Amino acid sequence: MPKKQKEKKKFVPRKNKEQKPKKKEAEGAVVEKGKRAHNILRGMHDILPREEKYWKTMFHVAENLAAYFQYGRIETPVMEEAGLFVRSLGKGTDVVEKEMYVFENQDGSKICLRPEATASVVRAYINAGMFNYPQPVKMWYWGPMFRHDRPQAGRYREFRQVGYEIIGAADPAMDAELILVAYNFYKDLGLPVEIRVNSIGLPEERERYKAELANYYRAKKSYICEDCRKRLLKNPLRLLDCKEDQCQPIKDEAPQIVDWLSETSKNYFMKVLEYLDALGIPYILQPTLVRGLDYYTHTVFEIYPVIEAEEGAAKETAQSALGGGGRYDLLMEEMGGRPTPAAGVALGIDRSVAVLKQYGEKHPINLLKPEYDIYFAQLGERAKGRALKMIEDLRQSGLRIGFNFYKNSLKTQLELANDLKVPCALILGQKEVQEGTIIIRDMESGIQEIVDQKKAENIVKKKLEKI
Ligand code: AMP
Repeated sequence: MPKKQKEKKKFVPRKNKEQKPKKKEAEGAVVEKGKRAHNILRGMHDILPREEKYWKTMFHVAENLAAYFQYGRIETPVMEEAGLFVRSLGKGTDVVEKEMYVFENQDGSKICLRPEATASVVRAYINAGMFNYPQPVKMWYWGPMFRHDRPQAGRYREFRQVGYEIIGAADPAMDAELILVAYNFYKDLGLPVEIRVNSIGLPEERERYKAELANYYRAKKSYICEDCRKRLLKNPLRLLDCKEDQCQPIKDEAPQIVDWLSETSKNYFMKVLEYLDALGIPYILQPTLVRGLDYYTHTVFEIYPVIEAEEGAAKETAQSALGGGGRYDLLMEEMGGRPTPAAGVALGIDRSVAVLKQYGEKHPINLLKPEYDIYFAQLGERAKGRALKMIEDLRQSGLRIGFNFYKNSLKTQLELANDLKVPCALILGQKEVQEGTIIIRDMESGIQEIVDQKKAENIVKKKLEKI
């Protein structure tokens, strides 16, 4: 027995033996006695190798959709001037008021970790003079965002979003295209979602509506929650976001923004819905959907997972939006650019991974599979040395080879070959090294043939119908 374990036995007081292990220990954290390990920051999470298949698939789907719909990739910095978001998202919004990570830069200016990326994309559009490009300009991004929110299931302080933006046209087909891209993202993953959609018109229409909404809520002030009383003073539109039970009946009876829209705004919205109908995308009209940021105009939408409560979905993830977006026709001008209509969507990847994983426990989902053509098994020291070189040569010739140098038993290696679902395996033992041969095993029938090492590549490629 190693010394450390003996010591552990000696020093653990008897009564502690009966106590439940601390949470960290229960989760498998191994910290040496008497030492302090660093913990991850609250609200942040590591993405571990065992999660890779979900992340890889999401990126693959996102990238394929971008290529198919012709969006160019843009990467903007994680740090920006804090003022960029105050100006674009709006002073009174939760994100700006409570959730931004703001620091003082060495020169005394205020910088922040980006809470979202649309404002950065718009800034980049202006900085790079993209109004000179053929319009509209279609861009997509993938990267981390930071919000100092209260952490809970599906809500982190660092999370990743993929987003698609179309800048430079005011066509309802654009709004429909963005909804289609978001819808397809989940469809390609095999996750059922629903789209909730609304129109919040133009600022002047919204102002009239806000006044009406505030009037309505003021009359009911004694029945609403503490937060809603604050919202009533600061940002009445946010009253419609309230999830408190006591406020629901009041919310249900509240005036609806669509009744305050001009004919032009209404027609624009109708056109978007017509396109969605034509595309066969199911949607739900949700009059209370207003989104949390100031920059939206006209169409706003959110994407929700369709997971039955009895399927054991965590309440928070099942009820939270996977993504959202809308039109932001006035943002470019607001940010100092020339008036340029635009629209976009952002999908939360961390939350989507959590929901997909949960859904995938009981339903088929579409994950990328690592694909291998063959497996290479080796037996004995000399074979290992030769195998290294042969594997490298076969890799260079374009074959994808599964192997594990740290397993010596043939049985284990053939089990690994089975897991990778390869049609055949190459087996190299001491005898084959001596004779310059190698065994090719058909994984389904188990039939083996011995071939010349020099001919192995061609024989395998013929079997795989690669030549
Ligand atoms: P938003 O722009 O706030 O609507 O965010 C779009 C999507 O990003 C949301 O629907 C979430 O999937 C994701 N998201 C936003 N905030 C967080 C967060 N704090 N943690 C994890 N995901 C988030």
